[in-house]
Formats: sequence, C-alpha cells, structure tokens
Amino acid sequence: MRVDVLTLFPEAFSAPLGVSIVGRAQKNDIVEIKIHDIRRFSHDKHGKVDDRPYGGGPGMVIKPEPIFEAVEFIKKEVPRSHRRVILMTPQGETFSQKKAIELSGSAHLTIICGRYEGVDERVREVLVTEEISIGDYVISGGELAAMVVIEAVVRLLPGALGDENSVRSDSFSEDFLEYPQYTRPPEYRGMKVPDVLQSGDHEEIHKWRRREALKRTFQRRPDMLGRIKLTEEDKMFLREIKEQGV
Ligand code: SAM
Repeated sequence: MRVDVLTLFPEAFSAPLGVSIVGRAQKNDIVEIKIHDIRRFSHDKHGKVDDRPYGGGPGMVIKPEPIFEAVEFIKKEVPRSHRRVILMTPQGETFSQKKAIELSGSAHLTIICGRYEGVDERVREVLVTEEISIGDYVISGGELAAMVVIEAVVRLLPGALGDENSVRSDSFSEDFLEYPQYTRPPEYRGMKVPDVLQSGDHEEIHKWRRREALKRTFQRRPDMLGRIKLTEEDKMFLREIKEQGV
C-alpha cells in the first residue's frame, strides 16, 4: 500500500509513524507513507496557502490551488491508482473498524489534512472521494485524525502484525468488544487469573472468551448486539446475564 498525506505540518508525522507496527511496516515495505508539505505547492513567495473566508467570519481557509496541484503531482507519481482521496473533517463519515478494513484493501490512499477553518469547498466537491471524521468533536488539524486512520489501516495489512490472529480477536472485528486479557503472574495482590485460562483446555478457553466478549459488549455497547449473528448458545447466555442483572 502507498499512502500520500497532504499537510501543513509534515514534522507532526515522524515520531508517531516511525515507531512500532507502522514504523516496522514501512521498514519491511508493507506500506510506503509519503508526507507532502502543502506549502511546497504554494505560488506565493512566502509560502502562503490560506486566505480569509468569502462572506466574512473568523479564521482562515486553505486555498484550493496548492491542494489541487499537490493531488495532481501525486497522480503523476502513482498513475494507475484508484484515486481514493480522503478529506479528514468532523463533517465526514465516522471512522470505524469496518471502514479501516475496507480501506486496507486499497493499494493507494491520499489523505488531506485540514487546518484553521478547513479547506476551500471546491477541494471537497472535485477532488475528494470520501470524508472521514474520527468522532463528534473538533480538533485543530487533520494530522492526528489522519494518523488514527493510518494506524488502524496499516495494522490490518498482511504481515504488519507479528500474529495475524490478534486482528481477528480485536474489539469490533467480529462486532464484539474483546474479552478480558490476563498475563503472568497468575496471582497479583490476591487477584487471580481465571482458572479456565490456565487449564490448557482450548475449547473451554474459547467458550469462556466468547461469553466474556458477549457480556462485555452487552454491558458497555448494547447497541452493537443487534448487528451480531448470535448462536443459540449465545442467546441463552445473554438471557442468563439479563436475568442475573450482571
Ligand atoms: N470549521 C471546521 C468545521 O466546523 O467543520 C472545523 C475545522 S478544524 C478546526 C480544522 C481541521 O481539523 C479540519 O479541516 C479537519 O481536517 C481537522 N479535524 C478537526 N476535527 C476533526 C475530526 N473530528 N475528524 C477529522 N478531522 C478533524
């Protein structure tokens, strides 16, 4: 996969994308991430890329020319790409694991990070193919939001994680929240790891994990349960927890 990011703050990306899974994925050529400074495409001698909004009002708006030219530059570098151009914006579709899985199937993504009051509407109308929000709140720029998307997508790429199974059991991958995790020591300050996890009985462990995931989802995100295909055993277990008022 190749990811091109357009930003006014390229330096913001080096540490978060240089470490751990994304850092390793770049070193292992699983993903190539190119960060482009929007100012490089400015025609202004001081590198100005923003201007006051038409109609008045507070703040500045990123001008269309440098973004159009940056995207055209990327199109020339990646000529056969499917042209997915993502705008990070609080007005977009709320990002989800499902969207991350869908994006992870693309060979090339271009991500535009806004700043100030955002980008000129003509960028959204003509260049952008999808708009993504990381949640119903406003942050000052699209950089952190783009990094959230990149992290979520890259860890899904084949070979990015040491153990591919961890993606499968992650929260949201099966529309369940993940079951509780424990590690050594088996007892800490009187708190014991459940016996079943130390039993070596894989069938019982699998059963316990499914039930715990179900319980956790019921307790924290009951809205998700309607989307899950439940087995008869799941339904029985859910009835039990409801009756016990857990
Ligand atoms: N005035 C804009 C609005 O109300 O839609 C918000 C501008 S915000 C201060 C500046 C930039 O931060 C946006 O253009 C966008 O790129 C990014 N941003 C802010 N909140 C975001 C969110 N929840 N998800 C994705 N990007 C966000």
